[in-house]
Amino acid sequence: MLVLDNAPLAPLTTLRLGGPARRLVTARTDDEVVAAVRAADAAGEPLLVLGGGSNLVISDAGFDGTVVRIATRGFALDGTDLELAAGEVWSDAVARTVGAGLAGIEFLAGIPGSAGATPVQNVGAYGQEVAETITEVVAYDRAAGETVTLANADCAFSYRHSRFKADPDRYVVLRVRFRLDDAAGQSSPVRYAEVARSMGVASGDRVDLAKAHEQVLALRAGKGMVLDAADHDTWSAGSFFTNPVLSAEQYAAFAARLGDRTAPAFPAPDGCTKTSAAWLIDNAGFGKGYGSGPATLSTKHTLALTNRGAATTEDLLTLAREVRDGVRAAFGVELVNEPVMVGVAL
Ligand SMILES: Cc1cc2nc3c(=O)[nH]c(=O)nc-3n(C[C@H](O)[C@H](O)[C@H](O)COP(=O)(O)OP(=O)(O)OC[C@H]3O[C@@H](n4cnc5c(N)ncnc54)[C@H](O)[C@@H]3O)c2cc1C
Repeated sequence: MLVLDNAPLAPLTTLRLGGPARRLVTARTDDEVVAAVRAADAAGEPLLVLGGGSNLVISDAGFDGTVVRIATRGFALDGTDLELAAGEVWSDAVARTVGAGLAGIEFLAGIPGSAGATPVQNVGAYGQEVAETITEVVAYDRAAGETVTLANADCAFSYRHSRFKADPDRYVVLRVRFRLDDAAGQSSPVRYAEVARSMGVASGDRVDLAKAHEQVLALRAGKGMVLDAADHDTWSAGSFFTNPVLSAEQYAAFAARLGDRTAPAFPAPDGCTKTSAAWLIDNAGFGKGYGSGPATLSTKHTLALTNRGAATTEDLLTLAREVRDGVRAAFGVELVNEPVMVGVAL
């Protein structure tokens, strides 16, 4: 395992923001991950688990503790059963399953980061989320001091949430197991209107698997949601805010403020309604590219807050607070950040 002191973290995040880690441990096997985590816990050291750094906002002061960077590798396909080591690059793994003719995660193409982080926020896009195909998560349980296997039903998956996100200091994901679908080269049913429209099919239809993968990559690239070092619109943490899920009462209050405008509304569990954070931001007066400082909204998507090259974390948070407060003033809706905050708060 590789250990560095006072190691810069910004280059390890997609925002390219944040100060140094007191210690950075790069772990290449499950045993190294567990040993590094055990050692930090035994010493009472603050611990940050780092995958691809694509969903993290790290303080300019850095992290005064041990960062364990998960660099394990492993892609094992047995029929339709897939096991990924936590450090596998997610988008590469998706491409390989599509190449093998298996459906189930094809609409999650191009999402940056590691396989091990996907159960943490139940990664989702274009009508698919990993909760639908994950069968088991193998994790090191820091409270019990042992490796455990959690079945899907024990992961408490919901919209951009899970047991791992709810209890962030407990589990370190080592392996994720999926059950995919051999649909004879066809995709899963298309559920997302934009995908259906752009492919000229109806919602619920299946399409050619490889074409579905390509189409999602193209749609994402058009929104700056595929990493490209040369394009500052992708120096982001993806969507900065989750789509608000409003109770019936909250939704009625929101609807009353809309006047003759119509906001997107999707049914959510427990009688709630999900609306669109991007719509709220845009309609509160923060259009694409908003901001004149070193951190601005992406010129391709209002939901991504971006570093134009010289930003600090504080610059980014100042913009995030302005957007959150503006949406609250315009619509009475509280936006909640999607990325994990390390040493900072919105
Ligand atoms: C351009 C762009 C587009 C994006 N699009 C989407 C999208 O469409 N849908 C979506 O859901 N997300 C999206 N994201 C967010 C992000 O890619 C995902 O959340 C991804 O799963 C994060 O993976 P990571 O390895 O980079 O995690 P990191 O950013 O390294 O970590 C995120 C959190 O997970 C924890 N973590 C990481 N690995 C482990 C592990 N092995 N065990 C336990 N905890 C761990 C970290 O401690 C941290 O709390 C996007 C991000 C970017 C930059």
